[in-house]
Amino acid sequence: MSDEMSSPLLLGAEVPDDPPAMARGQQTVAILGSGDFSRSLAVRLVACGVSVVVGSRCVKRIAPGLFPDAVELSSQEGAVVKAQRLVVLALFPEHYPSLLGIRAALAGKVLVDVSNAMELGSGVSSNAEQLAELFPESVVVKGFNVISAWTLQTGTQDGSRQVLLCSDSVEGKSEVAQLARLMGFHPVDSGDLRQSRVLETMPLRLFPSWRGPLLATFLLFLFFYAYGFLRDLLLPYLAHGRDGFHRLALALPNESLPNVALVALALVYLPGLLAAWLQLWRGTKYQRFPRWLDGWLLRRKQLGLLGFLCAALHAVYSLCLPLRTATRHRLINAAYSQVKAGVEEPWDESGVWRSDLYLSCGVLALGILSLLAITSLPTVGNVLTWREFTFVQSGLGYTALTLSVTHTLVFGWDFAFSPQAYEFYMPPSYVLAVAAPCAVLVCRCILLLPCTSTRLARIRRGWESVRKCPVSQRQQRAVHRTLPQV
Ligand code: NAP
Repeated sequence: MSDEMSSPLLLGAEVPDDPPAMARGQQTVAILGSGDFSRSLAVRLVACGVSVVVGSRCVKRIAPGLFPDAVELSSQEGAVVKAQRLVVLALFPEHYPSLLGIRAALAGKVLVDVSNAMELGSGVSSNAEQLAELFPESVVVKGFNVISAWTLQTGTQDGSRQVLLCSDSVEGKSEVAQLARLMGFHPVDSGDLRQSRVLETMPLRLFPSWRGPLLATFLLFLFFYAYGFLRDLLLPYLAHGRDGFHRLALALPNESLPNVALVALALVYLPGLLAAWLQLWRGTKYQRFPRWLDGWLLRRKQLGLLGFLCAALHAVYSLCLPLRTATRHRLINAAYSQVKAGVEEPWDESGVWRSDLYLSCGVLALGILSLLAITSLPTVGNVLTWREFTFVQSGLGYTALTLSVTHTLVFGWDFAFSPQAYEFYMPPSYVLAVAAPCAVLVCRCILLLPCTSTRLARIRRGWESVRKCPVSQRQQRAVHRTLPQV
């Protein structure tokens, strides 16, 4: 099981409300260091009515007006002595040993470590654990490191409201939680001090759940772009000297993007279908899915959003097509040639219908995809019931997929079957792209048949096929059947 999968969905529980031991202005909090974090924290604490004393190595170096007037400036030791309990270390961890000189003053105090790790996966103990080793007579609480100085200054409206806390001391954690609550944050208990290894690397992570979907989308784009380049530009150039390389910048991306969107959408619904088929085949839902399928199921939202991005870009590119010099040139040239030859092109009724139909399907699909993207935002998704969310994400999602496939098929039906389209034995790229969504839709239809849907619904309610039942349960059932019915 991956690390991400093995960790609980909710990292910790919100720290329960304690009696308000820290009433405003009754406690003095010391902050060591006079840098960005210290200043932002001091401003916020003062705004919440907490007395603050900032301890610096050299008070004279602090520019006048840097801290609010209510903040007292002092030496490091002076600040620690004035603090009743809480001492925030707004320093980089490599400077923690410089505080050994005031170890006696720090004894019995709660040291709040706000530092972050330098790099991911260093494997050694965390900054907070090293701090606890340096100052065994103090209580160390890890916290506030996932809150930026910017969030502290702008208030809780503009940033994350969660302050993740961990410590080996329940009391110390509770005191820091009260301070966080006083500042308008939600303290979340993340466990003992060992958890600081996770908390310290959190701000360093770069879109961990997006990596796979981004790579898949990028590779798909690369494939369709390269395929289009080879089939529509390079081979015609080599075979007939036809120069179409001006299409590289706009027309070719516009052909590749909808293909990527289609496949990405199919990849959103494929793992759910595979999971359903697996449950049907196994005759039980009480067996874990393979790891790759679990990971894939967790990445559906990201794949869907990237598919939506490609579809939206395709719409914008398509709107730009008439603005191209090449398009205008071709139109004017065609009109001029017709006038010169005295010919009039007849009204192509079926062509007009087809273009209206595929445009309409495309617009509708994009509209529904926008709805899906909006409901995937936690703030919107949270106000939907489970049934509403499933209706939007699954019901409307399949509608969007069907409309997208129809949009593609109506657009390319004629070309897909014309022999000229296979000049180099390479089918048009949308024929390749439409294969996966079509397979998904067919599989979905089969799952909707009463024989499969009834069995799947029973399995999902806990029913197990006798074949898959553990021997002990089978014996229990047999005994139950042979018991005389009262
Ligand atoms: P900073 O602006 O560079 O401030 C660090 C402070 O440490 C200095 O102002 C200085 O204060 C003190 N210092 C510098 N050299 C020292 C030394 N050799 N010995 C002892 N003290 C020294 O850094 P910061 O952005 O405030 O970050 C401080 C801590 O907060 C870091 O651990 C960082 O990971 C964490 N953090 C920062 C943010 C953020 O948004 N900035 C967010 C989350 C966590 P004096 O000269 O007054 O002693």
